[in-house]
Amino acid sequence: MLGVAVGDLRSRPVGFQQAVALRVSAEDVPDLGLAGDLEVRGTATNLGEDGVRVDLQVEAVLLRECARCLRDVELPIDTEAEETFHDSGDEPLITLDTIDLEPVIHEAVVLAEPMRVLCSPDCRGLCPKCGKDWNEGPCDCTDDEPDPRLAALAKLLPPREE
Ligand SMILES: [Zn+2]
Ligand SMILES: [Zn+2]
Repeated sequence: MLGVAVGDLRSRPVGFQQAVALRVSAEDVPDLGLAGDLEVRGTATNLGEDGVRVDLQVEAVLLRECARCLRDVELPIDTEAEETFHDSGDEPLITLDTIDLEPVIHEAVVLAEPMRVLCSPDCRGLCPKCGKDWNEGPCDCTDDEPDPRLAALAKLLPPREE
């Protein structure tokens, strides 16, 4: 729960805004895998009968693993999020007093995260045979044992002229 009190905002005229500023530590949202604090800034707007809308800017540094060499990668994200919170229930109507920004922040981070993380665009990755990090240099098993699938393919191609 990353709660923001909006009770005072709800007593103001429709369209009234209040600032939202939160600093969330990595330990408070362990499932996001943050390298440091996450910062949220923005506004909450009183929409009257329609509830409260928040417009947020979410900044964080994610700690991920390179898809090729498995090194730690720090991935900065800076993204926007918007959500409307409604009053709930019919009778008695439960008026919003506190809104929980955790799901909004969670979704914003997931959407901003790239599908595939690389430590650098030309990361060479790990040797599938011995596990050596090819970014640190070649290993002994790269040349002498060609991939069997490539060897089969080579037979289908005309001999190379050198
Ligand atoms: Zn890598
Ligand atoms: Zn190797």
